[in-house]
Order: sequence, then C-alpha cells, then structure tokens
Amino acid sequence: MDATALDGLRTALRGRAVTPGNADYDEARRVYNGMIDRRPAAVVRCVDAADVRATLAYAQETGTDLAVRGGGHSAPGASVIDGGITLDLTPMRWVRVDAEARIAQAGGGSLLGDLDHATHTFGLGIPAGNVSSTGLGGLTLGGGHGHLTRAYGLTVDSLIAADVILADGRAVTATEENHPDLFWALRGGGGNFGVVTSFTFRLHPVHTVGTAITVWPIDRTTDVLRWYREFLPSAPEDLNGFFAVMNIPPVPPFPEPIHGRKMAVVVWCYSGDLERNTLEELRSAVDEPAPPAFHFAAPMPYPVLQSMFDPLIPEGLQWYWRGDFFDTISDEAAEVHERYGSAIPTALSTMHLYPVDGAAHRVGSEATAWAYRDAVWSAVISGIDPDPANADLIRQWCVDYWSDLHPHSMGGAYVNFLWEAAGPDHVRSTYRGNYDRLADVKRAYDPYNFFQSNHNIAPATA
Ligand code: FAD
Repeated sequence: MDATALDGLRTALRGRAVTPGNADYDEARRVYNGMIDRRPAAVVRCVDAADVRATLAYAQETGTDLAVRGGGHSAPGASVIDGGITLDLTPMRWVRVDAEARIAQAGGGSLLGDLDHATHTFGLGIPAGNVSSTGLGGLTLGGGHGHLTRAYGLTVDSLIAADVILADGRAVTATEENHPDLFWALRGGGGNFGVVTSFTFRLHPVHTVGTAITVWPIDRTTDVLRWYREFLPSAPEDLNGFFAVMNIPPVPPFPEPIHGRKMAVVVWCYSGDLERNTLEELRSAVDEPAPPAFHFAAPMPYPVLQSMFDPLIPEGLQWYWRGDFFDTISDEAAEVHERYGSAIPTALSTMHLYPVDGAAHRVGSEATAWAYRDAVWSAVISGIDPDPANADLIRQWCVDYWSDLHPHSMGGAYVNFLWEAAGPDHVRSTYRGNYDRLADVKRAYDPYNFFQSNHNIAPATA
C-alpha cells in the first residue's frame, strides 16, 4: 500500500485507518465468524459520510479492492478481504427517534440492539433479526426477517429512506420519490449499490410481547412439522413462530432432564393484545401433533426476546450456513428435517425455518428487490462450533442436509443466507424475475462494479 497515499487518507479522515503495524489491527480485522481469517491492507474506521467519501476516493485512486463492514455478521465474511480495504462503519452506531412521527433514523454501522434500545422506551420498534449484535446494515439491505415479520413485514417494508454514498462519491437520499430505482434495489439487493450511511424506518407499536417456546422430542419432528405447516400460515398475523431443530442449551428456562438433548422446537412471539388469551389457546394447540416435552410462556419486553439467544452465540465461533425458501413443507422435507435433526453434529448447530408470510405477503414480488413474496419460510441450516477442528464436520452436515432438502424447496435462497461458494446462478435464482432490473440499477449506480464484496449482481451490459 502506497505510504504517501495512505498518509493523505489519514489526513482527510476524522476516523482512523488501522494497518498491520497497529496494536489493534487483529481486533479491527476480526469479524463474527471465527472461520474467517483475512488480512486487509487497512481497516478504515469511518465516523461520518465525509470519511466514507474519502475512503472510496482513496480506494479508487490507488486501485485497491474494498469491502464494506456493517455488523460483520456475514457468514462468508463479505465485509473483509485479503489485501484490500475494509470500510468499517462500526463508529457510525447512532439512532435518532422521532416518537411523535413514529420514525427512527440509524447510522449505517448500527446494530439491531441499538435500534431496539432506542425505540423500545417509546413503545415502538421494527421487524428485524433475532440476535441483537447483527448489523442493521447488512440485514436491512438483504431484506430482514424476524419475530415481527408476520405482523409488520420484512425489515425493508418499514424502510422509508436511505442516505447513500455512491461509487462516484455522490451523496443521494433514496426514497419512493427520489432515486426510486435505487430505493427499490436497496430493499433486498444487498450491499451492491453504495455505502448506506443512514437508514430511516417507519416504526410500529410494540412493547411487551407474549413469548413462548415449545419443545418436542426429535423423533416427533415429522408429526410436528405436518401440524406446524398448517397451523402457522392460518394463525393470526400477530402470532409468529419459527421452527428449529437444535440441542437444548443447559440454561433456564429449560429443565435439566432435556439439557443437551436434540429436540424439535418452535419459538413463538405474540405481538397482539396481551389481554386476549392467545397464549393459552396456543398451549392447547401445541398438544395436537405430540405432547411437548416442555412448554414455556411469559410476557417479555421485545428487546429481551430480541437478545435472548445472544449469550449462546458470542463472536468468534466457527459458522457455515446454507439457505433455501419454502412455500410448503412436504412430508419428504419433514422427514429430512427429522433425519438431520437427529444427527446434529455439535451442541450449537441448528436449522431454523423463519416465517416470511403474513404482512410480508401483502407486498408484491416486484415491489421491492426481495423476489420471494410467495415463500412461507426462509430456512437456514447453520453449522456452529467453537472448535476450528470441527469446521469440516459442521460444513459437511450443512451441505448434506441442504442437498437432501433443496429438491423440496422453491429454488433460490435469502441473500443473507447464501454461502461463499454460491455462484452467479444462485444469486440469479435468489432474485428470480427481479435480477435483470437489479443489473440495470447496478449499471446506473455502480457501472464498474466497484462494490463487489457481496453476493454480486454484475452491471447489465448495454
Ligand atoms: P456485514 O458482514 O458487515 O455485511 C454484510 C453485507 O452487507 C456485506 O456485503 C456488506 O458490504 C454489506 N453492508 C453492511 N452494511 C452496509 C451498509 N451500511 N452499506 C452498504 N453495504 C453494507 N438475518 C435475518 O434476516 N434475520 C435474522 O433473524 C438473522 N439472524 C442472524 C443471526 C446471526 C447470529 C447471524 C450471524 C446472522 C443472522 N442473519 C439474520 C443474517 C444477517 O442478516 C446477515 O448475516 C447480514 O449480512 C448481517 O449484516 P451485517 O451488517 O452484520 O454484516
């Protein structure tokens, strides 16, 4: 890296360029997935849009590859590249809430927990993922789903504006009226189009939610899924419930006899009126497929539910994942889940089926870049373990599970659950009929494909 040019960048910055000689270099280059060990030439910690512009200009003038880092949760490690620059938005963690207008604006490096914390005090929130350390940036740009999706849609369905620095340094605010094509592409198209320095969301009333967890023996998985595939889509939209196969962690509220046992689980979130007896009705309903081994229900502040799994999965574990979309769960698919659920290779490895129906279905497949509005579940098979020696084991379990399940899926996968080797064909099938329009928008806003450390959409050729 040219020392004079780097000095020039350092002079232009309010933030810091962390390079291999610095004591905090290893900390700066680390991302959430412990499998990723890349050595960028510099990690540029941007504090504002001016820093972002200076970093983009520097990368282009010196011909250096660049990756953008939000929360660093991409399992394939899209936010760090060997020998290039990581444009790190971590210092841009801030949230401003206009409670009267029910709007929140968040910096491009904010985490989900930052937004939840700032909005919860006003009894407001947005649908987003279920681990609070996930970056709002990557999650939103990919679409975003979570406990409130059946009630309020995808995260992008609440997005009303994004401040973006484009590859050529222009600063634009994308909304339905201003740069509508860019705004369309940002809602699901990933980090392909520019650096988003702030997101503005419409907020929804949410404060204390009814939380429940139902646990059945793993050998009843097929029966549970046959029931769940009918029950969930016909349930009121303010009831969400994601299905999992997992080992029960040795922590409360789970009783000791089921600690460490492989189980079929549904994590419920009821965001409607807590005076109604929905959770009691749910307690009776879950007996239908098989008697649960354990059922827990309690009202909880929404941010508590949103961070419930955080302690189980700290930064630095080995992660490998594969995703798929489903509009139904066939008997054959249910049997695949039972087979691989009975063979989970490590304590933390798991498979989740996240509901993406309800309010998310009221937006058309072509209204935003997210093309699977007819999917009912977004699945992710995650191999997770602290020990790097188990990296191959967890990867192989995911690949085998996915290979047997994929024939029963709709084809593409949620972009935020794509994996490293997912090539251009997989990215295309993730966007289906929206792909060509995304390639046109890419040509208009990033014609030289400067932003390519992502699940890349190549600019359309003229
Ligand atoms: P990063 O690795 O920082 O970035 C991911 C991609 O987004 C990169 O290409 C990056 O360049 C780009 N990017 C990030 N921020 C910006 C920005 N401000 N401007 C431009 N480009 C940007 N997803 C869900 O929808 N729901 C869930 O419940 C959910 N749970 C998860 C739980 C865990 C533990 C993990 C690891 C992931 C989960 N995900 C979930 C997936 C998550 O949405 C993706 O991993 C997402 O990419 C994370 O975004 P990030 O900003 O943390 O990642």
